Amino acid sequence: KSISVNLKSSKYDIDIENGLLDDVGFEIRKIYKGTKIAVVTDENVYKLYGKTVEKSLEKYSFKPHLVILKPGEDSKSIDTLQNLYDNFLEFRLSRTDLIIALGGGVIGDLTGFAAATYLRGIDYVQIPTTLLAQIDSSIGGKVAVNLRQGKNLIGSFYQPKKVIIDPLAIKTLPDEQLKAGISEVIKYACIKDEQFFNYLMEIKTKKDLFNSLEHIIYTCCNIKKEIVEIDEKDNDIRMILNFGHTLAHALEKHFDYKITHGQAVAIGMHYITNKTEELGYTKQGSKYELEKLLENFNINYNLPNVDMEEIREYVLLDKKNMSGNLNLVILRKIGEAFIQSVPAERINLFFS
Ligand code: NAD
Ligand code: ZN
Repeated sequence: KSISVNLKSSKYDIDIENGLLDDVGFEIRKIYKGTKIAVVTDENVYKLYGKTVEKSLEKYSFKPHLVILKPGEDSKSIDTLQNLYDNFLEFRLSRTDLIIALGGGVIGDLTGFAAATYLRGIDYVQIPTTLLAQIDSSIGGKVAVNLRQGKNLIGSFYQPKKVIIDPLAIKTLPDEQLKAGISEVIKYACIKDEQFFNYLMEIKTKKDLFNSLEHIIYTCCNIKKEIVEIDEKDNDIRMILNFGHTLAHALEKHFDYKITHGQAVAIGMHYITNKTEELGYTKQGSKYELEKLLENFNINYNLPNVDMEEIREYVLLDKKNMSGNLNLVILRKIGEAFIQSVPAERINLFFS
């Protein structure tokens, strides 16, 4: 299956198919005639899929140069960025060559940012290997690195030349990471697609889930594509992708990122829907439906014991709210969301 993303500045395909990692060489040949490729990955992903990708590239006469980084969020740093540039230069990578990001969101965001800036921009391809990266971070061109002061504070919008998704790669993902991805899947259903929400409700076993992954990933990528095509630079409608994320970002900070992003999002979606249903913004019963779906995937949604005063401070500090008002994403009902602008002095209404 293929999805074509059409933006003002660029156009590219997202290819989704079980087993696609074996055909990476073939897929890349369609868009790149040269030979040199820098492949950026992490140790975990390299052990699992590195050789497969390398072999497939060599089969199509590419000369891959592997850069293997330490796994984890700490690698999304300026230090690692310098390390990448060092490798690219040593490899004599020129502006007409290609970079591949093979891994989760950390590798994708970091490599994308390196590609956006190396020699003022060189083409890159995303090969996401976590569920979160396959349905979210690899699509839409947001690339970034973290600063000491906070996450994603340096970044750009830089679209890949192609996104290659092999749903089978998800089989090796630790359960916690899988659930983190599912939380974001549920987010897409909540904001845009009631039918998809009901479809997810019917998934009862791990086997069901793996049989449905291709369809799930395709549906999510399609929703994200439609949103990004309307609002590439995150000025209005793209913000609905932040459903559940206001509280989630605050919780991540509170727990010093020891909680997965997806877990925080699940709590955030449930919390805000509970509030807005009480306040009359959201159709009655929506919270209950959301609970049932999260429970269906064994995802915890209970708010941990945190000081709401501290949470409010984090919410107001969030870089997305620097301009003053908080843009809060609220469900009208399951499958439909809207953005409510909330003045700083009124956030007590939602976070108390
Ligand atoms: P990650 O990249 O750290 O991957 C999670 C873990 O899974 C790592 O240890 C990794 O080595 C391992 N892994 C990856 N693929 C595997 C596989 N197939 N089998 C077994 N293990 C595997 O984390 P993530 O959750 O993929 O991404 C999180 C990052 O994505 C954050 O930095 C976040 O800011 C970013 N993000 C970006 C966007 C965007 O639009 N650019 C959107 C959402 C999140
Ligand atoms: Zn998210």
